[in-house]
Amino acid sequence: MQAVQYTDHGGREVVTYDETPDPVAGPGDVLVDVRAGALNHLDVWTREGLPGLDLEMPHVPGSDAAGVVVETGEAVERFAAGDRVAVNAGGYCGQCEFCRHGEPTMCVDYEILGEHRPGVHAERVAVPEDNLVEVPVGVDWETAAAAPLVFGTAWRMVVTRADLAPGETVLVLGASGGVGHAAVQIADFAGAEVFATASSERKLDYARDIGADHAINYETADFADAVREETGKRGVDVVVDHVGGDTWNDSLRSLAHGGRLVTCGATAGGRPQTPIPRVFGNQLSILGSTMATPGELDDVLAKVWDGTFEVRVRETLPMSETVRGHELLEDREGFGKVVVVPDSEYDG
Ligand SMILES: [Zn+2]
Repeated sequence: MQAVQYTDHGGREVVTYDETPDPVAGPGDVLVDVRAGALNHLDVWTREGLPGLDLEMPHVPGSDAAGVVVETGEAVERFAAGDRVAVNAGGYCGQCEFCRHGEPTMCVDYEILGEHRPGVHAERVAVPEDNLVEVPVGVDWETAAAAPLVFGTAWRMVVTRADLAPGETVLVLGASGGVGHAAVQIADFAGAEVFATASSERKLDYARDIGADHAINYETADFADAVREETGKRGVDVVVDHVGGDTWNDSLRSLAHGGRLVTCGATAGGRPQTPIPRVFGNQLSILGSTMATPGELDDVLAKVWDGTFEVRVRETLPMSETVRGHELLEDREGFGKVVVVPDSEYDG
């Protein structure tokens, strides 16, 4: 079968779509014919190589995919051949102190399919039963593949970690990206007044379409100044930041006294300086968030499947053009998710 893969970390050119041995379903595994996958920034970081990440090569990337079950390994109980499924990329031990306290995303052995373990951008994959969720009939494959990682991540950030309440104000950075477009919709659904940033008028219109009450072009305005002005210098209760880098201080500056900043990533840089006096003086909380628990994923995907939340797809490519997908992500072209489909399933 064919799979997206690379034998070395590096630039986009290391990514190929080549033959690889067919996967085998071991005990507890489910064999899935992939109909669509989706790219995340995580795929770019993993391709470039992360500190402490020592992968067996060649590595098949990809954390998001959906497809049809073709075979189940020994002891699989929840799925049978013909079932429609999507991948939940998070894997945990179930036995450590944090798992036992119901916090699987804090597991000491937390692993993500496509990052620490072989991923799912291939014609066929063998995935542990625990890493699959059911996809109802009527949900298209692009939506099923593109939703889990970003909607799960955004739901945990906004609902669980930031504990956003109706009537609160929230600022979502990068509203046109995967996590951003999910966070805007979830914050709107939670009954908050939503501020969103994006880099072009088209992206701002999109942010308003999906629930932003205020859209700020960060290319032409200082977004923290804009937020402070529009809130009568008060600032917002919550900032959802997946950007980091130069935005970090402006995110802190956008917060009201007692405000919460929730972060799940740092695509623009992970080592910004933090003005500690602002943190203690204004009594701010900085909250980290990673992925989602199986229960959180169930909650948010139910609302994706029923159409409450929209998964925006910016482009669908054959897997052999995954390099182009990385380019779209790295150059921040367009908005929404980049979907990749096995070449044998791709019909343009
Ligand atoms: Zn654990």
